[in-house]
Formats: sequence, structure tokens, C-alpha cells
Amino acid sequence: MEQTCHFNTKLLHRQAAREYENREILPPVSQVTAFRYECMEDLERVFQHRSSGYAYTRIGNPTLTAFEQRINELEGGAGAVSCSSGMAAVAAALLAVCGSGDEIIAGSGLYGGTIGLFHDFEALGIRTRFVKDLREAEQYITEKTKVIFGELISNPALDVMDVPVVSGIAHRAGIPLFVDATTATPYLAAPLKLGADVVIHSTSKYINGGGNAIGGVIVDGGRFPWDFARHTALAAFRQYGKMAFYVRLKTDLWENLGGCMAPANAFLSSAGLDTLGLRMERICQNADALARALADIPGIAVNYLTLPHHPYHAYVEKELNGYGGGILSFRAGSRANAFRIINTLKYAMIASNIGDVRTLVLHPASTIYRQAGKAEMEAAGVFEDTVRVSVGIEDDEDLIRDFTEAVMKNG
Ligand SMILES: *Cc1c(COP(=O)(O)O)cnc(C)c1O
Repeated sequence: MEQTCHFNTKLLHRQAAREYENREILPPVSQVTAFRYECMEDLERVFQHRSSGYAYTRIGNPTLTAFEQRINELEGGAGAVSCSSGMAAVAAALLAVCGSGDEIIAGSGLYGGTIGLFHDFEALGIRTRFVKDLREAEQYITEKTKVIFGELISNPALDVMDVPVVSGIAHRAGIPLFVDATTATPYLAAPLKLGADVVIHSTSKYINGGGNAIGGVIVDGGRFPWDFARHTALAAFRQYGKMAFYVRLKTDLWENLGGCMAPANAFLSSAGLDTLGLRMERICQNADALARALADIPGIAVNYLTLPHHPYHAYVEKELNGYGGGILSFRAGSRANAFRIINTLKYAMIASNIGDVRTLVLHPASTIYRQAGKAEMEAAGVFEDTVRVSVGIEDDEDLIRDFTEAVMKNG
């Protein structure tokens, strides 16, 4: 494959997208629980990791491998692990490096499920310190801190992590940076190249894109020099050096937690991945056009990264390949206005997920932030009158007309 070829060509034609056993053009679905062997010795070797092969789908399956290799290639990683959901991926990645008595430093404005997970971790003796801007993480790092975790683009606040700066802080303190890049997608950003050590995606969103399979993936850059005296959770895997995190995940924690991706979901996510570049191009164009149209309406405050006044505007060029992503939000003036606008929209579907080809709309304060306090909610960029939009691939004229009419009538 030529070095000079671009994202979509690479995505469709690099090795991992072509190496199927019978030259299938898509990865075949190994919809099986287990794999049989001709003799006991062969299965023994597979179990001892002395020869490659599959034994049981929770431990490995060719359809999962095919998907993992494509994502790994796309991210420039050293190894990927697919998971049953984005939450399973976040949980497994963090549990691989943290145990009782350890601390995590996390950005604020995180996905609601991840905040809930950090509360669950407290019962296991793992504490999380939330830092609004991870560029200020240094003062919170202690000997107990094992990882810095944050989202590349938070949703719906749209705070962007300065990955080179935050990874510098982490690395000087001897800890890795894990980045949840779900909202950025591999089309906008390459977190490993920017300095992150591990990248996580909920593939349920943009990677699948069609809203037909829950999944998650963890990609290890394989470059972090683990200090096994500090990262005791990985001490049993010291012989693998910089690959200790990946090997612990793959052969121990992921297997034992039982969070494998379903083979059918790996197939659907791989098929969805084929059009990631095409969809993101269109989604980002639509989001930019819709944000500008809404921002032109007097009295409507719009939050979108490519708008010139946005506090993270500079990161569009610096980290996001010139794009603003697929999520925007605007303030409708009151909760009642927000509800009326949402209910008036003809094309946007009322749904709580993001990353679909269809435009999705939601009132976050009454749904995904229902359990958050006012301060926590406002720190996450959510107000009583906020409407969140996950922009789809519809024709932009139709989206703009639909939203402008709904806002003018009800704003
Ligand atoms: C959706 C999401 C998750 C969780 O993923 P699921 O696939 O729903 O489990 C984690 N992080 C971010 C940023 C998300 O948007």
C-alpha cells in the first residue's frame, strides 16, 4: 500500500481489510461458540498460546480479530481488543491498570455511563479525581495515580483535550494517557500520534454508524514504558514490556470479565466502518452548515466547534483534521421551548444515542443528565434549555429548513 494514499483508500484496501481466509470481500461471520481440533495436543498448544488458533469465542474469534485488526491499523496501534460495548471497553481498559487503593485522574464533562462507572469503582477502592481542564492535571497526580483518562471531544460541551500537552504531563509523571475518542472518530483525530497511549471507542456510534450493533474497542499504542513497581496491576505481565497492558487485557482481564464483542456485531461494525470517512465528511459539513444557520437566528446561542467564537476553535485545525464533528447544541430560551422545538422537528428523531446516519435530537437535562446536579450539568455544557443534535447525512437544505422553522416558531 502506497504511503501517499488517503483515509478512505487505506480503510478499504489495507492489509487488514483484505486478509480473509477464502478471499471474502467482507470478514466472514464465525457465528459459533467454540472451535474443534483434530487432536488434544493441538488444542493444548492453543490454550498455552504456543500456537495461534481459536478455542472459544469469549477468548477469541476470527470475526473479532478481523475487526480489531482494521481498527488497529486505522489508529496506528500495536494491538486492539473489541468489547461488548463502549462501557465494557472503558471498564476493561481502566481495570487493567487500576486496583484497590489506586487513583484515576479524569476530565470532566464525561459520558454519563463513564461517570457512573467511576462511582461503581469507588466500591472497589478505586478513586477518581475529576479535573475540569486536564492541562491542570499535574497538581493532582500522586503516587497512587495510575492513569489519566479523558474524552477527546466532550459531548455536548465540546471541550477538546489538548492531547500533546496532557500526554506530556502524564508521561513526565510516569503514567499513561487513555483517551475516549468516540465523538472524534479515527477520521478526525489520531490520538496515538498526538501522544495518547491507549484509545477507546464506543463503536455503537460513528464507527458502526447505522445504529445496528452495540460495541466497543480498545487500541494500545504499545509505546508506554510501564514501571511495574508502580503499575503493580501489570506486574505479572512484565515479561511483555511495553505490550504488558495489551497482553493482560487480551489473555486475562478481558477474557475473565467476559466482555467480548458478539461476532455478528463485529461483522456489522466492520461493514459500517467501510463508510466512516464518507459519513463523517458529510456529517461534519451538515453540522457546520446547520450550526451557522442556527447561529444567525437572533437570540439563539449555538455550541459548535467550527464557529469562530468557540473557545476550542483552534483545535479544529490543531487536532481534528479541520472538522468540527457531528454534535452541536443550542439553547432554546427555556425548557418548554426546547421541548416544543424538538417535538416540531420533522426529520430529527428523538433518541438518546449519537453517531447515526439519521439526525438525532435530545433534551439532555431531562434524560441523560437527569441524575446530575445543576453544577455538574452546567460544567458538562447542559442547561435546562439545551437541545443536543447528533447530525446525520440527510441533505443539508432540508435539515436547515426543518430546524430553522422549528426554532422560529417555538424559540
Ligand atoms: C456511548 C459512549 C460510551 C459508551 O458506549 P456504549 O457502546 O453505549 O456502551 C462511552 N463513551 C462515549 C464518549 C460515548 O459516547
